Amino acid sequence: MFDHSKYKTLDLYNVRIVPISHIPNGTIESRAQRPDNLTTGAGHPIGDKLNIMTAGPRGPLLVQDTPFIDEMAHFDRERIPERVVHAKGGGAFGYFEVTHDISRYCKAKVFEHVGKTTPIAIRFSTVAGEKGSADTVRDPRGFAVKFYTDEGNWDLTGNNTPIFFIRDAMLFPSFVHSQKRNPQTHLKDPDMVWDFWSLRSECMHQVSFLFSDRGLPDGFRHMNGYGSHTFKLVNAERQPVYCKFHYKTNQGIKNMKPEDAERLASTDPDYAIRDLYTSIANGKFPSWSFYIQVMTFDQAEKFQWNPFDLTKVWSHKEYPLIPVGRLVLNRNPANYFAEIEQLAFDPSNMPPGIEPSPDKMLQGRLFSYPDTHRHRLGTNYLQLPVNCPFRTRVANYQRDGPMCMFDNQAGTPNYFPNSFSAPETQRQHMETRFTVSPDVGRYNSADDDNVTQVRTFFTEVLNEEERQRLCQNMAGALKGAQVFIQKRWVQNLMAVHADYGNGVQALLNNTEPTNVSPFILVHGH
Ligand code: NDP
Repeated sequence: MFDHSKYKTLDLYNVRIVPISHIPNGTIESRAQRPDNLTTGAGHPIGDKLNIMTAGPRGPLLVQDTPFIDEMAHFDRERIPERVVHAKGGGAFGYFEVTHDISRYCKAKVFEHVGKTTPIAIRFSTVAGEKGSADTVRDPRGFAVKFYTDEGNWDLTGNNTPIFFIRDAMLFPSFVHSQKRNPQTHLKDPDMVWDFWSLRSECMHQVSFLFSDRGLPDGFRHMNGYGSHTFKLVNAERQPVYCKFHYKTNQGIKNMKPEDAERLASTDPDYAIRDLYTSIANGKFPSWSFYIQVMTFDQAEKFQWNPFDLTKVWSHKEYPLIPVGRLVLNRNPANYFAEIEQLAFDPSNMPPGIEPSPDKMLQGRLFSYPDTHRHRLGTNYLQLPVNCPFRTRVANYQRDGPMCMFDNQAGTPNYFPNSFSAPETQRQHMETRFTVSPDVGRYNSADDDNVTQVRTFFTEVLNEEERQRLCQNMAGALKGAQVFIQKRWVQNLMAVHADYGNGVQALLNNTEPTNVSPFILVHGH
């Protein structure tokens, strides 16, 4: 069993986070030293917490009622911006354990030896809904893992699918807008959803996953996770390979029937968070087996597709899963806001030995994730206990900023180079060099084979009954969009397989769109 007590001290900033303990009935209780007296935020004892200070028994109230002003002013500021995507989620803590040696591929200390354990945090989420939305909607699920490694934090900010809708980060804000609310009606708008998907046929692979049975996972414990992007692993001899990460659920895949998901959306909209929390509280610790796929640079040159295309997988037959370890969740958050809402994942958090590939979506996220956190949580979000790389010591030249916690690296020099005692660079941690195509440009990848892998999925992965359910689920959602959009989408499916296109079209016939967005048509459809 992994011993969490070793990791309770954030020695980086010489502070202690609230110790957590599992009490016998399995629930979790904070044992923070509580003061005997009720106090203001500044620590002043409060004499009366029930009656506001007024001039006479019938008011008006006085601004000098500092216990009231102190609490009300803080209350007014309780909400931080919700995440633009992945707003609704739940998470837990646990450990990663190495079960197989992969040091021939990667020098990162997290994989140092079989048996090594590293504390982790995982946040699961839906993608498009707001913070109060239902857990059981058809939507990809976020599956983000933070490893608190000896060499700084490593974040694998993935999903429950190995692919994504788009392959070019330029499209990301538009893609997300199309899945959210109409700017005029403030309603979810099938026209927007299917207009974007049908105009960008690279979405078909992910949309096919989404409308298959796995588009409605039964909670967070019964689904696989994927790092999704292509990354680079580097070994101690500085030899790189490309890599993908997979985490297969040890609870078994379990999906929901659409009618059950719909019912739960109204009767228990927090179904997935509740399932995760109660499972861990009852000592049923969920786990996932962790694998990598590896591709050499030589193989990448010859791969039939762009190996950095996030809309495609690497076939397991050509690039078999290599076992590495397991992820186990065994502790619930003691406080949701402190530990889950403030938990910030960032794909650019990579320790030595793990590097980005040229994947355009990954490269875009390397910027956009930390940028979001600086806005949502503040410049010093990495000092928050749950984000702090507490198993190493941060030593750099960053100083100040709002909500600077701890000693701000005290009196150490804040410039480099300098002649005084200060942290130095270590050349063994230099990133690997790599060659890039010399012509800078905006390369159109819209038609980069959007059908072959979808066809394999439709014809070889799904059985006949699963294909029928895929068509039913898809038609059920697509019928909300205007007919010209339906036709364009079906035409895209026809390029994958006639049975797919015809199967969806047959279910659309004789249906009237349930929604017409207020947008004005400009392209003469
Ligand atoms: P394999 O037969 O080795 O793998 C098929 C994969 O499909 C398995 O990982 C399986 O997951 C997964 N799967 C089964 N049902 C669904 C579903 N409804 N939604 C999403 N995934 C599902 O074949 P290949 O590796 O050659 O891939 C063939 C096709 O399978 C790909 O074109 C892609 O569409 C799909 N796929 C491939 C993955 C990969 O990383 N290679 C991963 C997921 C899907 P499990 O084994 O956990 O049941």
